[in-house]
Formats: sequence, C-alpha cells, structure tokens
Amino acid sequence: MSDAFNAEVKQILDALGVKSVNSGATTGGSNGWLKTKGKELVSYSPINGKPIARVSMAEKKDYDEVMEKAQAAFKTFRMMPAPRRGEVVREIGNALRANKKALGALIALEVGKIRAEGEGEVQEMIDIADFATGLSRQLYGLTMHSERPEHRMYEQWHPLGIVGLITAFNFPVAPWSWNSLIASVCGDAILFKPSSKVPLTSIAVQNILAPVVDKYGVEGVFNMIIGSRDDVGEPMLHDKRIPLISATGSTAMGKHVGEVVGGRLGRSLLELGGNNAIIVTEDADMDMALRATLFGAVGTAGQRCTSTRRIIIHASVKEFFVNNLVRAYKQVKVGNPLDNDTLMGPLIDEGAVLAMEKALNAVKSSGGKVIYGGDRVSVEGCEGGHYVRPAVAEVKNDFPIVRSETFAPILYIIEYNSFDQALELHNDVPQGLSSAIFTTTLQYQERFLSHRGSDCGIANVNIGTSGAEIGGAFGGEKETGGGRESGSDAWKGYMRRQTNTINWGKKLPLAQGIEFNIG
Ligand code: NAD
Repeated sequence: MSDAFNAEVKQILDALGVKSVNSGATTGGSNGWLKTKGKELVSYSPINGKPIARVSMAEKKDYDEVMEKAQAAFKTFRMMPAPRRGEVVREIGNALRANKKALGALIALEVGKIRAEGEGEVQEMIDIADFATGLSRQLYGLTMHSERPEHRMYEQWHPLGIVGLITAFNFPVAPWSWNSLIASVCGDAILFKPSSKVPLTSIAVQNILAPVVDKYGVEGVFNMIIGSRDDVGEPMLHDKRIPLISATGSTAMGKHVGEVVGGRLGRSLLELGGNNAIIVTEDADMDMALRATLFGAVGTAGQRCTSTRRIIIHASVKEFFVNNLVRAYKQVKVGNPLDNDTLMGPLIDEGAVLAMEKALNAVKSSGGKVIYGGDRVSVEGCEGGHYVRPAVAEVKNDFPIVRSETFAPILYIIEYNSFDQALELHNDVPQGLSSAIFTTTLQYQERFLSHRGSDCGIANVNIGTSGAEIGGAFGGEKETGGGRESGSDAWKGYMRRQTNTINWGKKLPLAQGIEFNIG
C-alpha cells in the first residue's frame, strides 16, 4: 500500500481518536472508557486485508459494570424533560456534522463502502438526530372519551429502560443512530454491541459523542460494549434488566434472538435479511429502471439489507434490459473505496467472497446461467483485499439459492409473462423487506401497492429497493422479522404505554354498567 494511503489511514484514526489498541467498553463520555483486558480483537480493512487497529475486548465483569452504570443512569435520565433530552441529541447531531468526512472515511476503510456511501451513512445519522430532536416535543399520547360520567381517559408513553442494541457489519453506525437517538429522546439508556467485524467505527462514534455526554452529565446513557458472544452477546439476550433487544442482522441470528428474548417475555425488535426484487413491466422507463437496478445491486457491493437481489422482468423487454445492464456493469470501476472514481469496493472478508462463489455454483447446478461477473478482481496496491466483479445470472425463482439471501453483489434475472405471475414470483420468497416496481401503468402501480400486491415492509414505485429516507418507518415482514425503526411512529417501540383513567366525580360507576353493591 502506498505511503499516501497509510498517511490517510493515520489521519482518519487520529481525527476520530481511534488508538492502535482501544478499550472494548465505555459508559460514554471522556471518562467512561473501562480498562478492558479481554482477548484482542483485530479490525482488518477489507481494502487490503491488513489490520487497522485493535480492541481489547470486554469480559463478563465489564458487562456487569456497564449494566450497573446504565441502570443508575436510566433512573436520572428518565427524569430529564424530553425536550432537554432532545437538546442532547441535537448536539450529538452537530458533533456528527463536524466529523462527517472523517467518520465517512473510516466507514470506507473498515467496511469497504465507497467514500460517498460512507458519508451518506453519517448523513443518515445527522438526519435522525434532527428528526429525534423534533420528536422530543412530540411524544404524544391519545385522549379518549370515557364511557363513565365524570371520568377522563388518556394514554401516556413512559421510558422503557435499557435498550440492548445489536448491529450488523454493513451499516456499522446508521442503525446505532436509528435506535440510540430515538430511544434516548424517549428517556431510555442504551447498551450497544456492534458487530465484531467493524468495531472501530463504533469506538469513533463514542469519541464523537463524548464532549456532549460530558457537557450534559449523561454518562451511562450511551453505553457501548465489544466482546465475545459468551461474555456479552448471550448475556444481553438473557438479561431481564434489558426490556428490549433491537437486533439487526441475519435471519438465523434473529430467530435465535427472538427465541431467547421471547423466552423471558422480553421485547425484541428484529431487522433481518431481505430478498428484494424490482418488477420491471413492459412499459417501464427503461433508463430509470436500469439506473435504479445498478445502484440497488452494485451499491455497497450488494451488502445492503435492501440491495436489489431479483429483477422480475416482462419477457418482451428482458433482452434489451439485460444487454444494457451488462453494458453498464462493465463500466463499474471496482477498486479501493477511498479512490473517488471507484463505484464498488471490496466485500467484507474472504468468507463473503466464498459465499458468493458458492451461490453462483449453485445457480449453475440448478440449471441457471451466469451472464456476467462473479470472478475475483485484483486491485493494484490493494492486494489482500476482497474484490469481485458484480454478477448477473438468469435463474428461476424457485431455485433454492434464489430463495435465500446471499450477502454479495449477485443479481438474479427472472422472466414473467403476466402481471399476476410477476406478483406471485415477487412474493414467493421467505423474506419481505424492500420491493419496487418500474411501470408507467397506473393499474400495475396500484395493484403492486394494494393489499394483494407486494408483501414487503417497503414498496416503492419508480424508485429502487435501496436507499430509504429516515422519515418513514423502516423494516420488513416474514423472515425479515417484522421490526420497524427510524422515522414515523417507530419511537413507540422504545417506550411503554400506559392507559390512565381518572374519576373526578363522587361516584364509583363500573365499566360495562356492572353493578357490584352490598345489600
Ligand atoms: P450477523 O447475523 O452475522 O450478525 C449481526 C449481529 O448479530 C452481530 O453484531 C453479531 O455479533 C450479532 N450476533 C450473532 N449471534 C449473536 C448471539 N448469539 N447473541 C448476540 N449477538 C449475536 O449479520 P452480519 O453478517 O453482520 O450482517 C448481514 C446481515 O444483516 C444480512 O442478513 C443483512 O440483510 C442484515 N441486515 C439487515 C438490516 C435491516 O435493517 N433489515 C440492516 C442491515 C443488515
């Protein structure tokens, strides 16, 4: 790697206070870092396979210490008026603004996203901070008319407690913000466990927050812990002091989380894998459909939960679409994500490359055809990185491999003849996250959006499957887990609802007209 690259890496780490060996636990603020002494976790850059920095992981005793601090902090933080909590979050948003470039670059370095997408992820955090600040004055409950005279009824929303947050490698910090910034204006404390594949971005976020945590004296609210499954992951799931576990990751992980947390009747909010499709009808604007497909399938190297995995296309336009798509794929520059002209960076690790190769072999053995890509790419100066050419394959929707999520840039082309068939193919997968249709026919559009149409949590028209705005609730159905995070009224998931009835009269009438009198 060139001296310029190494100098930039040093500059990024220094700007964000990431050291060569970092603590794996903090209760937030500049004094919150614990002296962890657990096994060393190395963060490798997918750009060149080289170590970036290390973390001394938290052990069970560190977990217990952080939990005690979080419990104590919750008791005082819930007393802070919600608009004041909103001020804390507003200042966190400002701190993120000031560090957008550096944090975006660290995401590129640690996850392998291109710089623009890394900065986009930070922008999403800033947007959520703005949203949460406004929300802090709008945690509204309903009032309702009582059936009894001289009675008043209403609902109010109280802070829930400690929210346990587990996140996936591909969005190391945006889901932190969806959960933590909303949950904190709701009055909760957060215990965040990032993916062990990308610990440094989370450490950097804690450093960015630290001055705000210090200023408002909210140590113990924004906690982070990096440790093994045995010392941290499983204890979190089993811990009755954590009323809600919000988990982002694979369906296999989500099923386990759902079972364990459900077993203690805790709440879980699950954001799991997708198998997202775009239906392209015979009258679609092909230029728009092609551009959206390219971004959806190749962006973030196909490592978004909302990445476009399937194109369900009318037979009459398939050849035109595929030819033009392959032409566009050939122009995608695969390379170092920190270079400004790169469109696709590396996959996260060798395991991801092997999974992609395995999936393409499965396509072939099921009778499908790989039309383009799938081979490894060697990038000069980035030897040791995990680069592949994005792949396009022609398949049938019922191939087992097509029904499961391969977290890599593979796009499956599936042909249809009637719109009913397109909808059927669309929904005939176990996952239900994001979906889209490209069409200029009102009837197709409306059928797609109707209750007989897409069965996904997100359904778009003439927009691709990835790149959601923060204003809407984000999440999906079926094996995607059913959770909703981010905008709209997703905040309700981080609070407990209480129904209150007040009798301001002098009698005690019972509901449903029941008489219960002595004598
Ligand atoms: P993963 O399931 O391997 O890991 C996700 C997180 O779960 C990690 O932090 C991991 O350490 C943790 N984990 C795993 N087992 C655990 C256990 N027993 N106890 C506690 N924690 C445990 O997923 P990944 O490879 O990091 O991410 C890719 C997956 O995430 C894809 O399936 C993708 O679709 C999904 N994802 C979904 C969304 C969404 O919002 N729906 C967003 C991003 C990623």
